[in-house]
Amino acid sequence: MDRLAHSSIERLRLLAQGRVQGVGFRPTVYRVARSLGLTGWVRNSCQGALIEIEGHRTTDFAPRLLECLPEQAHVEQLTSIVLPPRGERSFRIGPSLEDGGSGAQITPDLATCKDCLKELLDPSDRRYRYPFLNCTQCGPRFSILRSLPYDRGRTSMAKFTMCRRCQREYDDPADRRFHAQPNACPDCGPQLDRDLELAVQALAEGKLVALKGLGGFHLLADPSRESSVKRLREVKGRPSKSLALMMTCPEQAKQYCQVNSLEEQALRSAAAPIVLLKTLGRTSLSQLAAPDSPALGVMLPYTPVHHLLMREFGRPLIATSANRKNDPIPTAQISAGLADFILDHNRPIVRGIDDSIVWVVADQVRVLRLARGYAPLLLPGLHTEKNLLAVGGHQKSSVTTQQHGSLTVGPHLGDLEGIEAVSNFEQRAEELCRLQRSQPKSLVIDHHPDYVSSRWAQGRPCTRVWHHHAHLASCLLDNGLDEPTLGVIWDGSGVGPDRTVWGGEFLVGDRRDFRRVHHWTPYPLLGGEAAVREPRRIALALTQHLGQRVSLPFTPQERRVLERLESPLTSSTGRLFDALASLLGLCHKAEYEGQGAIQLESVADPHESRAYEGQDWPRAFTQILEDISGGVRPELISARFHNWLVEVIVHVARSQGLPKVALSGGCFQNRRLLETSYRRLLHEGFQPLLHRQIPPNDGGLSAGQAAIACA
Ligand code: ZN
Ligand code: ZN
Ligand code: FE
Repeated sequence: MDRLAHSSIERLRLLAQGRVQGVGFRPTVYRVARSLGLTGWVRNSCQGALIEIEGHRTTDFAPRLLECLPEQAHVEQLTSIVLPPRGERSFRIGPSLEDGGSGAQITPDLATCKDCLKELLDPSDRRYRYPFLNCTQCGPRFSILRSLPYDRGRTSMAKFTMCRRCQREYDDPADRRFHAQPNACPDCGPQLDRDLELAVQALAEGKLVALKGLGGFHLLADPSRESSVKRLREVKGRPSKSLALMMTCPEQAKQYCQVNSLEEQALRSAAAPIVLLKTLGRTSLSQLAAPDSPALGVMLPYTPVHHLLMREFGRPLIATSANRKNDPIPTAQISAGLADFILDHNRPIVRGIDDSIVWVVADQVRVLRLARGYAPLLLPGLHTEKNLLAVGGHQKSSVTTQQHGSLTVGPHLGDLEGIEAVSNFEQRAEELCRLQRSQPKSLVIDHHPDYVSSRWAQGRPCTRVWHHHAHLASCLLDNGLDEPTLGVIWDGSGVGPDRTVWGGEFLVGDRRDFRRVHHWTPYPLLGGEAAVREPRRIALALTQHLGQRVSLPFTPQERRVLERLESPLTSSTGRLFDALASLLGLCHKAEYEGQGAIQLESVADPHESRAYEGQDWPRAFTQILEDISGGVRPELISARFHNWLVEVIVHVARSQGLPKVALSGGCFQNRRLLETSYRRLLHEGFQPLLHRQIPPNDGGLSAGQAAIACA
């Protein structure tokens, strides 16, 4: 019977979904089919890769294929149906189908691979020092894509006609550039508009250089020249917030930072994100790039242009997006006055995309900003057909679509403050739907009445989701769970069902529902939302609540005005950090959100194990004020404050008795808080749930909103 089945000729149709386009998937199918003596074809479709195989050994095909997948391909789902044999003679790679549907993941942009790097540096190679070489395992993807399926004609490479040699590589299934859509060489491909050496020279002279990279223009500066960094901060309107660095190699990063093996892997990965690394003490580099923070954001070169540039320059470079505050990353040109020297090229960027940010916590690489190399993120396995678009929050905006049983989370779109940012958001939301061939039947929005994203959705069918419920749902989704869980949701602010500003919440819930089981005693945001930028106002509010007079930098006039302004109540944890930062004299007015918390984390004594007592802030801050007047060092006070927050988490977790505890919200971008909470919860027998692929900050809201709307 067995032998009979084996010897009969069968035909199967398979549909492979996931990251199967633009990563050398079809040539692999071709090779595997031929090695098994199978006939048939493979072609790209909007649903993924469609394969038909015919022969004696069809059942061997799928396992063999999955074993041989190229590094950058991921098959999320492989389904098959049996067809009648057709008697085909050969196996071929067919033209793409333009069908409906979507299950093909849009492939993110990939960093230059080892093979291409070797060619780039090989004087005998025809692509020696060619700044735009790529192959099926690397190069631009999402940033040059106009529509699906992913074919050269639907990318910004369409205007470059391949020369004979490139075309031959492109057509040859045995070549590593077979159907590499952006394939190019010095004879036929894109070119830089100026000599690379001139840019290197400009940098060495202390000039600010704008470089058109993969997802947009970067602004580069030499951090060994303090004046260059100062000027870069000036033109960007960013006096002290951290700036990322590009370094030549992990070894160079190790001269300034601790780099463990997972962090090194992340640095070297095809996503090539900015990795947050602990600094090795204070150096002039860390003072200039990240004066507030205990970490440096480091990335490695991820395009041939970067590789050539970094090799010539040899030292770390500040590399930050070449935009002014609140504007999206520029893709076509940069505003006047930003740079002294511009290095441009003629391969258009179809959509801007920022660098991703990750860190390694609890032995895993975790995403803090989902962008280049990771986005769009396909999350399959949500078995509903809602066909919706979730539009996220206001800061660190992102959108998520839901169709065909999966979610697609789009890249980080920034804060929706400036006009350009808002129009960029609208465009990108519509575009993600178009790429996914999704016509959303309804939108999912936050309850906040004033979010731009919510107002944009007005007049269309909408579901509203509470901000902190969305955080909890995003963490559950990220952990593949949906069961009643205790969520510790700590962030800056989001409107809650009682119409106060939430942000220090203990929720018990799943995707369907939640209830608030513990929170901080609400305190006034003195003078409204503006208090977010003035930690001193929170310090004043808390000390007034405690009936204590503390000297804070206010003029009598300012105090009088503050008393007249409307002050909504909040239970925010982020603002508690602000208040302490102000009381310790670290930060009275913040340049950016979270500055106070970052400074507090930075000064906290790593060896202090004492914690303040009590389950609420009035008790903790009473002890804090005693410590301050008793002359206790800020390093100890900050450490005791962090430790206290962790003990409150443990206390509430014990009182709820649920096995799993989800940690979500922007406050968990504080390494000390997250790592200590994680360890303490594990030690107490709980299973802490941390974010992995979806950011814990507001960047994850859209995914959480979509998950809730699908429940
Ligand atoms: Zn390559
Ligand atoms: Zn060529
Ligand atoms: Fe939030």
